Amino acid sequence: MSNMAEKVSAFEEVCSVFDWAADHLELDDSLREILRRPWRELTVSVPVRLDNGKVQNFTGYRVQYNAARGPYKGGIRYHLDADIDEVRALASLMTWKTALVDIPFGGAKGGVQCNPRALTTNELNRLTRRFTANIHHILGVNRDIPAPDMGTDSQTMAWMMDAFGQIEGHSPAIVTGKPIELGGSYGRTAAPGRGAVFVLEEAMKHREMAVQGAQVVIQGFGQVGSWIARLLPPLGFNVVAVSDVRGGVYDPKGLDVEQLLAHQKEAGSVVRFPGAEPVTNQELLELPCDVLVPAAVERVITQENAPRIKARVVLEAANHPSTPAADDVFNDRGILVIPDVLANAGGVIVSYFEWVQNIQQYRWDEERVNVELKRIIIGALDTVQARVDGQSITMRQASMAVAVQRVARAAEIRGFV
Ligand code: GLU
Repeated sequence: MSNMAEKVSAFEEVCSVFDWAADHLELDDSLREILRRPWRELTVSVPVRLDNGKVQNFTGYRVQYNAARGPYKGGIRYHLDADIDEVRALASLMTWKTALVDIPFGGAKGGVQCNPRALTTNELNRLTRRFTANIHHILGVNRDIPAPDMGTDSQTMAWMMDAFGQIEGHSPAIVTGKPIELGGSYGRTAAPGRGAVFVLEEAMKHREMAVQGAQVVIQGFGQVGSWIARLLPPLGFNVVAVSDVRGGVYDPKGLDVEQLLAHQKEAGSVVRFPGAEPVTNQELLELPCDVLVPAAVERVITQENAPRIKARVVLEAANHPSTPAADDVFNDRGILVIPDVLANAGGVIVSYFEWVQNIQQYRWDEERVNVELKRIIIGALDTVQARVDGQSITMRQASMAVAVQRVARAAEIRGFV
């Protein structure tokens, strides 16, 4: 492992966990070769006419990693760091995530390298339509189904559905995470956060850790982090710090999450929340707490800051927030890491429900969505915990072992090798 943390490939980091699982499972070499690389990668140009009349060229990607278990599935990210290596890493993670929670999908990810905050709504609409038109030939209800991710939301999915429909005919099941009015599912917006909270509560109870009064620090107050913050206090957790891209706020006595949401709505950020202490995003990670929730960008916890982290539990609500070197530090220090592929799987689980509802042209109520989400994600947690308890391995290792075994088995019985 190189010391130049920023130079290390995100994809290679994900592969290092895959390699551990492949060794652990004594996976056949030819299967290992198939599962260690993406099946297909598409890079497209995305020229967009800006509101000022000029044309700007963006680059977009869709990486279809593996579809042995079903159609490719995974979000579309609009972010300046969304290069091919990152999208490839995230597509690989989606493959293991859908396998771990045992929903009938493979894994994919897409991205457009851009800063969505610097674009107007009209520009984002045009960018999304052009990107969709350029990748539509590899998408399909039974082929590849995108969803929101960082920098995209239900509005982006509405534009994608419309742009795809103009070419191929109306197909709501082509994307998930749509607005309710266009066939979205109740409970989809809250799902990544809700799933993470279900898993956290159960994993702590399993280890006889007290939930009442447990102090929680959350990095990221967006689509995932803000829901976690909202759902934890009724269960007895105490949210003491949160942050967004502009910075964080800390109050060791606990933050009033409802008031914080109102402040964020008005001020556009959590910073300057009355009565709380300001902290930077770096400082926030090292605050005293019981549970640390990275719910923003990837690779924020490295071998450099991992030794200073004070939490007893790290709940990975973001994708790939800790490097493998940080993982080793956590393991040595006895810190429990609930890995991304399990912690944030609630989003894709409810995406699966949305796809099922669209295909059946039938809508579930929110209670049904949440009950089924809990059943599936806790089922996956139980499977992982049985492996952890029986073999003294980490939750990440156990999750990957379960996932890789399932994908390998599917590839094998399909007759790939
Ligand atoms: N982008 C989300 C994730 O990383 C959701 C993907 C989906 O629903 O397809 O899991």
